[in-house]
Amino acid sequence: MLRSPVYSHSLSPHPFQAALVSMRSGQICYHFSRPCSSPAGSGVRQQSPIVRRSRSGYIDLSAGRVQRLSCSGKTAGVGLYATDRDDLNGMEEVKLSDTLFSFRVGSFLCTAVSDGTHTYHEPARLLFANAPEQRLEEVLADSGLQLETWREWVNPYTCLLVRAADGVVLIDTGAGDVLGPDAGRLIPNLESEGMAPADIDLVILTHAHPDHIGGAADGGGALLFPNARFVLSASEWEFWTSDRAETTLRNMDLDDDIVSLLTHCARDKLTAIRRSLDLIDGYSYIMPGIRTIPVPGHTPGHLAVALYSGGEHLLYISDAAVHPVHMQEPEWYMGVDISPHKALDARRHLFREAAREEALIFGFHLPFPGLGHVVPAGDGWEWQQLSCTGD
Ligand SMILES: [Zn+2]
Repeated sequence: MLRSPVYSHSLSPHPFQAALVSMRSGQICYHFSRPCSSPAGSGVRQQSPIVRRSRSGYIDLSAGRVQRLSCSGKTAGVGLYATDRDDLNGMEEVKLSDTLFSFRVGSFLCTAVSDGTHTYHEPARLLFANAPEQRLEEVLADSGLQLETWREWVNPYTCLLVRAADGVVLIDTGAGDVLGPDAGRLIPNLESEGMAPADIDLVILTHAHPDHIGGAADGGGALLFPNARFVLSASEWEFWTSDRAETTLRNMDLDDDIVSLLTHCARDKLTAIRRSLDLIDGYSYIMPGIRTIPVPGHTPGHLAVALYSGGEHLLYISDAAVHPVHMQEPEWYMGVDISPHKALDARRHLFREAAREEALIFGFHLPFPGLGHVVPAGDGWEWQQLSCTGD
């Protein structure tokens, strides 16, 4: 019997609890609680957090084990699974979730929540519009891809839920019903985390592309997070609600149906949320420990989001890089970048700071759970993915 995840926290329904884990001085600190051994339904008996430290490998507990998932960088995830069958009522195997991943950034309890996937066709020219062909072939070959035959890119979309003392924050809303049935799964995945849409207090929209704003309202214009205030940069609002959006996009090398999708979706969703919307400057303090950073170029008001707590730092990069190759080759822009050179300036600035501060990075389009670090390498940066697949 497969059961979903284990890394969790006090709100989790799962019988074992293990929270995240920060790596300090090369050691991983695990904080976990033990399940009660009585039959199902009795819940979890909380114990005071126990902290174990280990450089690597597994730690055996009396009723479970902690599996180390990654030790690169400052943050690691853990899964905890049963070795005593009686405690888990027949659980034999635990499959790590590919839709939810919880971790802490200081006092913030964060969860990467999958919105599903979207398949992009002919991805190389979309992602790396100005890449020299020969260099692109070499770089893709290093990732096991052949430029000639790379016809489809199944890209995960991942939003970030942040439980803060001042409220529950969601960063981006996923695609909703705009981009097909493989995406738009944010709300069911939030619900399986015990979080109803009405529980969200604040939604930060990093920009008004359909994969980020599509889930803000349904096709009829009803708000999908009914109690939330939304924030968006003022320049993003001005662009998409004026004629400038359509004029600008028509002058780009984009298919007509893409232009139509982008402009209609932005207008429809912005119209739906306008009474719940606060427009902000690029640099804005959202609540204690959460602020936005302007990264214009991908769209005029594109934002990154920085979280600071307890000496830890997470940077939500949104679409400043949507593929690890954008870090390795920071001069390669995307076909949908509205002002490519601004986008590249913003990207370089963002990753220079992220590498210097050793920030944990969260990327909406990066492999689930979207977490990792960048380190300087050559003319760019190397992406060091935090894995949650175990071993
Ligand atoms: Zn995007």
